[in-house]
Amino acid sequence: MKILTAESAGFCFGVNRAVQMAADLADSGEKLCTLGPIIHNEYVVNSLKARGVFPVDSLNDVPEGYSVVIRSHGVGQDVYDELSRRKMVFHDATCPFVSKIHRIVSEQSAQGLPVFICGDAKHPEVIGICRHVSGEVHVVSGLSELEEQLHLLQYSTDAVFCLAAQTTFNTKEWNSCTFFLKKYYTKAKIFDTICNATAIRQKEAVDLSKKCDIIVIIGGKHSSNTKKLEEICRPYTRTLLIENASELDFSAFRGVSVIGVTAGASTPADIIKEVQKMMNENLLAEGSSFEEMLDQSFKSIYNGEKVNALVVSVQPNEVIVDVGTKHTGYVSLSELTDDPNAKIEDLVKVGDHLDLVVLRVNDVEGTVTLSKKRLEAEAGYEEIAEAAGTDKVFEGVVVDVVKGGVLALAKGVKVFIPASLATLSRVEDLSTLLKQPIRFKVLEVNRAKRRALGSAKAVLIAEKKEKEAAFWENVEVGKI
Ligand code: SF4
Repeated sequence: MKILTAESAGFCFGVNRAVQMAADLADSGEKLCTLGPIIHNEYVVNSLKARGVFPVDSLNDVPEGYSVVIRSHGVGQDVYDELSRRKMVFHDATCPFVSKIHRIVSEQSAQGLPVFICGDAKHPEVIGICRHVSGEVHVVSGLSELEEQLHLLQYSTDAVFCLAAQTTFNTKEWNSCTFFLKKYYTKAKIFDTICNATAIRQKEAVDLSKKCDIIVIIGGKHSSNTKKLEEICRPYTRTLLIENASELDFSAFRGVSVIGVTAGASTPADIIKEVQKMMNENLLAEGSSFEEMLDQSFKSIYNGEKVNALVVSVQPNEVIVDVGTKHTGYVSLSELTDDPNAKIEDLVKVGDHLDLVVLRVNDVEGTVTLSKKRLEAEAGYEEIAEAAGTDKVFEGVVVDVVKGGVLALAKGVKVFIPASLATLSRVEDLSTLLKQPIRFKVLEVNRAKRRALGSAKAVLIAEKKEKEAAFWENVEVGKI
């Protein structure tokens, strides 16, 4: 898993300047209030409050002896006029890029030109800009509203008017508007007032969202530029908008490989750092990536796959195992062994590791059934096949009586022993051998049919011969 953070994430020049100005003034001992929250970020507003700087809604709320900080969004000409009329001390932290728009619209409207602003009519920056216009002003949210307004106002195609943008306006939408005006209203005066910091941030966010499975956008829920970041990233990837690290929902990162991180212009660096820290700690923990951990828990498991599983519970007829995936593994007693005498508690205990083969996966129920004996049978079969025709003796148990003989289980493999080869001298009732230990040699193996033929009689004869040989070796005439 990779976490990629946009270089442009966080405070822009204008916000940084405003916050720094307020903080420096507060530190100098000046009694301050801001006209509206300094930025759309509760954390920053609260930290300034802790330093004695609090926001007010209007000039009427400014206490005696306090000076006013105008935030980076700027204010209308009417507010400057009121400040001057009341002889109030103020510090202007309006972003220079916003002040530039004030100048443009003021000059253009002074020349009698109607002003169109692309932006959010309710945003303080736009409200402030409109109040620097002395004549006609219209705010449009994008191309369709611009077209609609021009149509409603019955502007002819040679009408002269001016168009500017809120600093954080969507560059794509702006390009559509300007393209339209250049084509149909050729005398319109276009002022591209989108802030470079915004354009860079938006471009980087789009580029980043194309590369990642999810993008985390950190910023105030009321921050216009943060909301716009989410809006422009959404067509390319999933978005997660958070105000701070406590809002991180880690389930959103399931199955992702690349996470992008960006932040609005009003998001302080320490909030971004906190988010990064929490993501690193939770997603890239203990040297293994979150992706790896998720992969582990969502890893697929397949029929026929061989696994080493941990026994987590032993039940009367089955054991429950951890197979290292999200599934719960079950091994029934009959898949642990073919030995009819076996007791489960003698075979396994909690904490044991078992080599198993997967028989069946049920992804819907999250279960997997496994077998120990079939895995052993595979290895055992090879051993038995290799011993065919040799004197190697296997120890097993008679597990079944079948037509013409018995089946002896050894190394997880059932070996057919014909009745004539099951004992030294033929027995009438083969069932007397059932569940009895048996030693046998492998006579032949049919690999195609995976069948093996054994002989207990061959072992018994060999043992008998050994005993006879030992007898004749030790016997002496006259010795009793
Ligand atoms: S986004 Fe641009 S215009 Fe707005 S405050 Fe920041 S630097 Fe100024």
